[in-house]
Amino acid sequence: MKFNKVFNNVSTYEAGKPIELVVREYGIDPKDVVKLASNENPYGCSPKVISKVESIVKNMYLYPDDSMFELKDALGKKYDMDSKNIIIGSGSDQILEFCVHAKCKKGSNVLMAKTTFAMYEIYAKQVGANIIKCKKDLPDLKELLKLYKKHGADLIFLCVPNNPLGDCFDKDEIYKFLEKIDKNTLVVVDGAYNEFAGFKDEKKKICPKDLITKFPNSVYLGTFSKAYSLGGMRVGYGFGQIDIISTFYKIRAPFNITTLSLAAAIEALKDEEFVNECISKNFIEMKRYEEYAQNKGFEYIPSYTNFIAIKLGKYSSKVVSQKLLERGMIIRDLTGYGLNAIRITIGTNEQNTKLFKLLDEVLAELN
Ligand SMILES: *Cc1c(COP(=O)(O)O)cnc(C)c1O
Repeated sequence: MKFNKVFNNVSTYEAGKPIELVVREYGIDPKDVVKLASNENPYGCSPKVISKVESIVKNMYLYPDDSMFELKDALGKKYDMDSKNIIIGSGSDQILEFCVHAKCKKGSNVLMAKTTFAMYEIYAKQVGANIIKCKKDLPDLKELLKLYKKHGADLIFLCVPNNPLGDCFDKDEIYKFLEKIDKNTLVVVDGAYNEFAGFKDEKKKICPKDLITKFPNSVYLGTFSKAYSLGGMRVGYGFGQIDIISTFYKIRAPFNITTLSLAAAIEALKDEEFVNECISKNFIEMKRYEEYAQNKGFEYIPSYTNFIAIKLGKYSSKVVSQKLLERGMIIRDLTGYGLNAIRITIGTNEQNTKLFKLLDEVLAELN
């Protein structure tokens, strides 16, 4: 069958491997499998979220509240934002898609860093847009600005902090960049890990209201999948000026968030203490990874997230990842990004200890 030609050029997103796959393929007991591949919160979610969801399971025969009043109200209070400036998506992924559909068509230019979130490119290619990427591995706003001046763009993606490398621009650098961008170019500031960055370094913290007020051509995206531990619930949000958000509403399908997901997100927002504790533990455990890498002589990128990218030098990241997988440890190989590196989600103390032990084993085998 013939399909829309744009899809010849689109690759399928390869998600982190699920625990079930390792159980099936390698016959490992599910309780012995550790997944440090998708930047989930390893501490699970707040017990308050679980009891809330349990208490409303019986309502699932009803369509959810499509106005999402309560969740928008809670987000609005937390970020000092009017509900009209908020949209909720099935993960912030869905809002990335809204951004592309709102701004791009065949031949549009979409600008992004070389090594950044893979979905930016996939969504943009789905509508036949041209992808313009920097040459440097690490995101560089000067290079991005040069490309912008040369080619122009309908849409620019900034991942702050950046997945899969963990690096992060300062807020001031982003503002300086935005000052030079035309009002008709939509700039997406993807803050999927911004809670982590803001905790580690105040200079990296983005205030969504300040951002979209100073730069009406920007949108800020956040998610409940990472720090708020609701990856399985699929809830993300976008903040922007009314003209942008109301255009997104024309793209959105009704009832795009389930009743249970909405309730979970509302409850998760109430338990800030739980989230802050998780973030604080994340950076304590992160130090162990930095020390591990230093001891082995591996280069790593200082990370402002809940994962760390480590270059493996003489060892093949593909082989190392596969050998870890066979031992029930799921991590991310970055070969597909053109890097001989691995990305590991920072787990619990126990999970990290297990990772170091298994990685030692694998490296010894390869020596
Ligand atoms: C995880 C992630 C998202 C969105 O995840 P959802 O689960 O769809 O909310 C967006 N951007 C980046 C960079 C991510 O890592």
